[in-house]
Amino acid sequence: MSERIIPLVDQRIPTLSAPAAAFAPNTRLGANGLLSDRHGRPLRDLRISVTDRCNFRCSYCMPKEVFDRDYAYLPHSALLTFEEITRTARLFVAHGVRKIRLTGGEPLLRKNLEVLIEQLAALRTPEGEPLDLTLTTNGSLLARKARALRDAGLQRVTVSLDGLDDAVFRQMNDVDFPVADVLEGIAAAQAAGLGPIKVNMVVKRGTNDQEILPMVRHFKGTGLVLRFIEYMDVGATNGWCMDEVLPSDEVIQRIRAEMPLVPLAPSAPGETAQRWGFANAQGEPDPQAGEIGVISSVTHAFCGDCNRARLSTEGRLYLCLFATQGYDLRSLIRGQASDEDILSAIGHIWQQRDDRYSELRGAAPADAPGTPTRRVEMSYIGG
Ligand code: SAM
Repeated sequence: MSERIIPLVDQRIPTLSAPAAAFAPNTRLGANGLLSDRHGRPLRDLRISVTDRCNFRCSYCMPKEVFDRDYAYLPHSALLTFEEITRTARLFVAHGVRKIRLTGGEPLLRKNLEVLIEQLAALRTPEGEPLDLTLTTNGSLLARKARALRDAGLQRVTVSLDGLDDAVFRQMNDVDFPVADVLEGIAAAQAAGLGPIKVNMVVKRGTNDQEILPMVRHFKGTGLVLRFIEYMDVGATNGWCMDEVLPSDEVIQRIRAEMPLVPLAPSAPGETAQRWGFANAQGEPDPQAGEIGVISSVTHAFCGDCNRARLSTEGRLYLCLFATQGYDLRSLIRGQASDEDILSAIGHIWQQRDDRYSELRGAAPADAPGTPTRRVEMSYIGG
């Protein structure tokens, strides 16, 4: 296994931010829900980061060596308020967004998050439909908060869980957090009706890949959807190297050696996971057994139908997880900009979107010499 090399610099601060006003040319762009970027991709999915803080220190995301007690997190005044988030989300909905995912950092660390959820749950599409409102969490506070989140109008949750073996899990989260508490959080979310619940496992070869089969056995037939995520070269602090990536094809092979699987069709355009069903004796998908998914952002990049935008904790709009530049919407939001001004800026930014970072880095992986590393951290932009 290759050595983990962690650059001890904060790569977040120098990340460029373009003022959104620069992307609002004189032509006013209203919202008709038909917005598309230069590759014809619509805007459907908005991920909103509500905090850059987390109580875990997973080495692939917020390694202790960098995110230590001296780390300069964003001051509270820099964070978008709930009202600012809701106003911005409403404008994104006018442009075609139908799904909102709250993330972070650890979103459940943001105080009174239920208040934001209530505000977002009240938003309606131009057709009068509610949004698909969901949240990604490490599950540590879920047992306490699941009921209140549901009551506030949250529909579903995705829980990150990197193994069932307590020692492996404690090592992965690097704060000695027990797996039993996350399982209790998942059970509370199920009881509160926050489903269908997805469970995301980041697989690092040599660290937790022995947990793949126990996880499949544990969640098969429970109604929860387990998904395996390839360890990604996101951010610039995790010391990523290709040797630690276990390709999704190998994950599927390992599962298939014990349980027959059949490929399933995507359930929605732009879906990140490739879905697999458990096969019955006739080789058909068995609905009772459920499904698993793999997210192959390293080995099978999927920019072609990406319809996701990301709003950072401090109101910068990012068009890709691997972007180096965000667009400063907060200065518009806190300035004198009208809804129409902001709508127009978002529209212009999306129309000019040309990126295919994942596909391009497939041709030149992040550990290739000369590859730029000024990418934003996942904990800042949201997963
Ligand atoms: N704290 C929340 C959580 O744990 O789900 C939300 C934020 S977290 C950044 C979102 C997701 O990104 C988690 O499932 C996490 O495992 C995943 N993630 C973070 N860094 C990653 C990396 N380098 N490669 C793949 N997935 C990563």
